[in-house]
Amino acid sequence: MKRTLFLFSHQLHPRYLEHAQIQKGSDEIIFVDSDDQWTRYRFHQQRILLHLSAMQHAVNQLKKDGHRVELKRANTLVDALKPYPNLIAFQPTNHYEKTWLKALKIATLYDDPLFLIQEKEWPTLLPEKKSWKLDPLYRQFRQRFSILMADNQPLGGQYSFDQDNRQPPKKGLTFTPALWFSKDATTRTIETDIHSRFNDHPGETDSFAYPVTRHEALAALTHFLSHRLETFGTYQDAMLADQPWMSHSLISSSLNLGLLSPQEILDATMTEYHKGRVPLAATEGFVRQILGWREYVRGIYLVLGANYLSVNAFAHDRPLPTFFYDGDTKMQCLQTTIKETIDHAYNHHIQRLMILSNYANLTEVKPQLVNAWFNEMYIDSSEWVVAANVLGMGLHADGGKMATKPYISSGAYIHKMSDYCDRCEYQVTLKTGEKACPFNSLYWHYLATHQAHFKTNPRMAMMFNVLAKMPVSEQQALIKQAKTYLT
Ligand code: SF4
Repeated sequence: MKRTLFLFSHQLHPRYLEHAQIQKGSDEIIFVDSDDQWTRYRFHQQRILLHLSAMQHAVNQLKKDGHRVELKRANTLVDALKPYPNLIAFQPTNHYEKTWLKALKIATLYDDPLFLIQEKEWPTLLPEKKSWKLDPLYRQFRQRFSILMADNQPLGGQYSFDQDNRQPPKKGLTFTPALWFSKDATTRTIETDIHSRFNDHPGETDSFAYPVTRHEALAALTHFLSHRLETFGTYQDAMLADQPWMSHSLISSSLNLGLLSPQEILDATMTEYHKGRVPLAATEGFVRQILGWREYVRGIYLVLGANYLSVNAFAHDRPLPTFFYDGDTKMQCLQTTIKETIDHAYNHHIQRLMILSNYANLTEVKPQLVNAWFNEMYIDSSEWVVAANVLGMGLHADGGKMATKPYISSGAYIHKMSDYCDRCEYQVTLKTGEKACPFNSLYWHYLATHQAHFKTNPRMAMMFNVLAKMPVSEQQALIKQAKTYLT
């Protein structure tokens, strides 16, 4: 019997077809370009371009390979798929996509074969009444998948090399440039279409150069492993104003689309490591992101369900500053970071965490507005990735369910890890006054405001000891200064 396989734009890997045992002559494959998928959030134009271009390229390739394949255009995904009585599909990770599929008659719904950990395993891995940490799971996954292990022991005698990684940037630091791809005729046609269909969406598409085919994604991965992984670990938390990409892999958009699978990324990384071309610390830092963190945030999203999107442990309810959409602020760290977001739909993780989320958290922005912005603006966004990264790690809005302490800092951390402060109108050493770095007073205001919540947290004890020893007049001056930013 003829079967119709529906694939989302993020299910492009050949493993989906293999898993469903698609037969070229008898089965057909359907992709859908529906407005509801691209307006679920007000996505950056580059993100829509990526999804539509990658999907069109996949369709073209499958046709060349002899498959019966169609890309349907419709207002809604459900409208597009209703006429098909015998659909087969893969379980999407995003809760709203599951709701869409529930409205259809799906004959077979397969588990997603592109994650290393199966969906049904997560309730056991993340038991409801226990506190969750990445580290024990990461150790477990390293053993289970035999990655960087020998005789059941971690290579180098330890599971984490964080103390060797995450160094501040050195003067004159440069990296081998990343591999980029010019727009072909298919991408350019879609780009024109996007300008008319989604002209009220943020960002622009001029600089778009992300991989849109599996061939390009594999080339980008090989280039990263050969030329940039070596310096990834050491500088993974460093920020430089003229280097938006630093030594990051830039493969997240390909990975989250299914142009690459996590298993083939790990296999290629291990090959590079065993050839002796990359140091253990850098390799381990990268493996932790793919095998550990990425799977962990998906597990949290699955286990906590759609309600997780509503968390707001501190009842923060301020609006998102308008400069998040144009970078029009005198704060150099935020201005540089946001201008990069607008131009490239990309920031590396420490900008996302310690500049954007840090500022939003310290200024008490409503978590759901921050979560929406992160979903909108990034080339690699998907609700399952953003939720735990932003609501949990970035904002501590889940009250500490997935991170033992909030990731907040004063200007001192940003100064140590970047060159932003050197060109800022504010002075990072000042806490009060017109020229004071806003992060400084906001940081102490946050600690003072949330003291009761964090009082018993041993990881916060040092900060509260400093606060306790601070003269009352200084505390009052800091609170007064911070309030000038909380409008
Ligand atoms: Fe950012 Fe403060 Fe540094 Fe300016 S001085 S770049 S606001 S951390």
